Amino acid sequence: MHKPDDTSPTAAPAGRRHKTEADSALGRRARRCAEIFGRRVAVDTSRLARNHSCAMPGFVERGYYVDQDFTCKDCGVTGVWTAARQRWWYEVMHGDPWTTARRCARCRRLERERIAAARRAQVEGERRNAAHKAKADRWQALKNTAPTRRRKRLR
Ligand SMILES: [Zn+2]
Repeated sequence: MHKPDDTSPTAAPAGRRHKTEADSALGRRARRCAEIFGRRVAVDTSRLARNHSCAMPGFVERGYYVDQDFTCKDCGVTGVWTAARQRWWYEVMHGDPWTTARRCARCRRLERERIAAARRAQVEGERRNAAHKAKADRWQALKNTAPTRRRKRLR
């Protein structure tokens, strides 16, 4: 006869074990979601960019990504670099395995705009220099083709 104070595992009724959530399709889906949206995302080392160092980044050693707090180097705001975003950066964009989040989304956008403006200014400067040089060359050519007249005028 079953004693009510017997709590040992062998006392549980055998045979009629219900499927636990982990065994069911729902459980599998929940685990898959946790893999993508949870705090842990598995690392697929075959998709990483080449690591040029002998050392191993923490996430490779660990085998999974975890949400990471960071402080924006420009505005000082704190943010979370999620595990899913880390996987995207390292495995889809093949970002350097030693790079981490440094700027918030807003400052990243501002930085991109700043770089684009600097590039435009550089292109414009090069164009102006080229135009200036072309003018100087034309003037030099003119001097070379009409030396006598110029000499006469200089006297
Ligand atoms: Zn910022």
